[in-house]
Amino acid sequence: MQEKFASFLTDSTKKAEDLEHRKKINFNIGRYNAVVPAGKSQFSDLETARERAKNVKWKVMERLDKYLEQFEQNFIRNGGKIIWAENTEQAQQAILKICQEKNCKSMVKSKSMATEEIHLNDFMEENGIESVETDLGEYIQQLDGEPPYHIVTPAMHKSKEDVARLFAEKLNTDINLSPEELTLVAREKLRSKYVEAEIGVTGANFIIADSGSIALTENEGNGRLSCSWPKTHIVLVGIEKVVPSLNDLALFWPLLATFGTGQKITVYNSIISGPRKTDETDGPDEMYLILLDNGRSNLLEPKTRESLYCIRCGACLNACPVYKNIGGHSYGTTYSGPIGSVITPHLKNMGDWKHLSYASSLCGNCTEVCAVKINLHELLLENRHEAVEKGDSSFTERIAWKAWKKASLNRSMMNMGNGSLKNWVVNKVFKGWTTHRSDLDFSKKTFSEMWKKQEEK
Ligand code: SF4
Repeated sequence: MQEKFASFLTDSTKKAEDLEHRKKINFNIGRYNAVVPAGKSQFSDLETARERAKNVKWKVMERLDKYLEQFEQNFIRNGGKIIWAENTEQAQQAILKICQEKNCKSMVKSKSMATEEIHLNDFMEENGIESVETDLGEYIQQLDGEPPYHIVTPAMHKSKEDVARLFAEKLNTDINLSPEELTLVAREKLRSKYVEAEIGVTGANFIIADSGSIALTENEGNGRLSCSWPKTHIVLVGIEKVVPSLNDLALFWPLLATFGTGQKITVYNSIISGPRKTDETDGPDEMYLILLDNGRSNLLEPKTRESLYCIRCGACLNACPVYKNIGGHSYGTTYSGPIGSVITPHLKNMGDWKHLSYASSLCGNCTEVCAVKINLHELLLENRHEAVEKGDSSFTERIAWKAWKKASLNRSMMNMGNGSLKNWVVNKVFKGWTTHRSDLDFSKKTFSEMWKKQEEK
């Protein structure tokens, strides 16, 4: 069995049996579910809003080259510098080069999944540069030496008692501190970091083609501090984050807030158009923006293109019965949950990551809740199809499905034996089928027997 698949099975099996974990996740997702309806109530026609957002992203993905070039021209006109990075290594090296030029010893970072994708903190540490997470959830995760658990709520799997324990252990605080007091401790620790840092790194929720700006959404104000205090601001962003116009934010901001956290609008929404101008008092002297591909071009294939519409609201994770049982870390990837299972095999490779597309009940709940109506469960099926087409399936699996197909297309074969015999064959002979599934339960009578009985009535 492949290494990634084996560790996924081990980790997810362990987590699924962890009732304490399930309690914390259900509690935190329950709080999310309780507030989402209030956010949704701001839309007079939510379905049309989601459909419209999907259409905007469709338009962008059909001409991604044009919108990216338009963004690049306008961003440069605003005084920014653009770097195109094809993969993790190019992005890391570009950031390191800037750090060396600026003689950077420490940087502050606001929450960004793209920086997680390129393992920026570890890379900076290897190069002797301190990289400090400033989003509270990310700060907690960094203190604990763990990657984020969820794309919107990085420490979702921790209770307030867990955080108090962690702060006591790492920062020597009183173990009985309340969430408010813990927040003040983090705030106190982080304030000095903003002042010391030579460079601030952020992601971007959207990059805007017609104005050459980035849009940054956050609830804590740490993003603003990270990009306005240090002399150099670096933005790392995936190429799919482009929207055509500033006007589109009127639709995407409330959608992201509602589907991400149940808010009507996120607390801080910043539009940043290049570094500080001569007549401005705040902001960095220089602003770099790294456009990261890292496998996204693979997703531009017509069959998977729709997955690039994602605005990373995290709603599909919260709705997924598999995610709620196995948790974010079991996936072993930057992007977990349904969207992670869809994109990871293409961002990395199908052979090592196809198992994620099978980690789904195909209930369709993810598609149902997606802010931009991505057909997630169908894309999971598409991945499975592609894996089989490419021969990424085991010999026994292929033989088993061939036998299943042959039997189910042949009435006389289906009529052979009663339900008990079929149960025995599937549940006992095909070893492995029931390791992670409940037993199949065939009807005692065959379809022909039931039909005959019906006719007799
Ligand atoms: S796939 Fe849809 S629901 Fe999931 S994170 Fe992306 S936009 Fe949100």
